[in-house]
Amino acid sequence: MLLGHPLIVICPACGQEHRQTNLLSGNTFGGMFWSDGSSFSPMMPDLPYFSVCSTCGHFFCVKRCEQYESSDESVYELPSLQHPDRKDLSDALTRRLFEGKDEEIYLRTRLWWSMNNTNGQERENQGRSDDKAYLENARALLNLLTTNNQYELLTMAELHRNLREFDTCLSLLSLIDEKRLEERKHQIEEACRKHSSNTFRFDFS
Ligand SMILES: [Zn+2]
Repeated sequence: MLLGHPLIVICPACGQEHRQTNLLSGNTFGGMFWSDGSSFSPMMPDLPYFSVCSTCGHFFCVKRCEQYESSDESVYELPSLQHPDRKDLSDALTRRLFEGKDEEIYLRTRLWWSMNNTNGQERENQGRSDDKAYLENARALLNLLTTNNQYELLTMAELHRNLREFDTCLSLLSLIDEKRLEERKHQIEEACRKHSSNTFRFDFS
């Protein structure tokens, strides 16, 4: 992993400065990968694309903020840039604080992950049919994804499995023929056949 001098990211609403890791290159060696697409890789930090100001609470897109590198030691006294939490994501979607379809997919995917609550363990009983917010977000995300893209197909299949729609999950999985996705496809298929809707960690051993 190669890091540059930290970045200072400035809140567009109040001017508060935040510190952001400046990742020049990384890799996913030793990473952990979950069935909903979330992952943790020690050599590839998950840097926020959106954040919330630590001072004024403004929700903003990091890429569209004024930012610069700093080699000054004082940068370490600044608050670090944080990922939005579940409530921030939900509010941002309601208020449509994003630009275009890809950003909506990003926010809805992050909201889905936050509801799946990855803590490195298999998660119990996802796709709760009594959880209105979970259902609404899963349905909205499904509407944004396309079967023309193999990665999105895998995500769609997993969403349907979370919603306990196992037949739809299996029929979407059958459309995936990309070699790189084969292992993931088989493990989701196996969980589906067991009628498990839990988010699980992929085993690539
Ligand atoms: Zn602010």
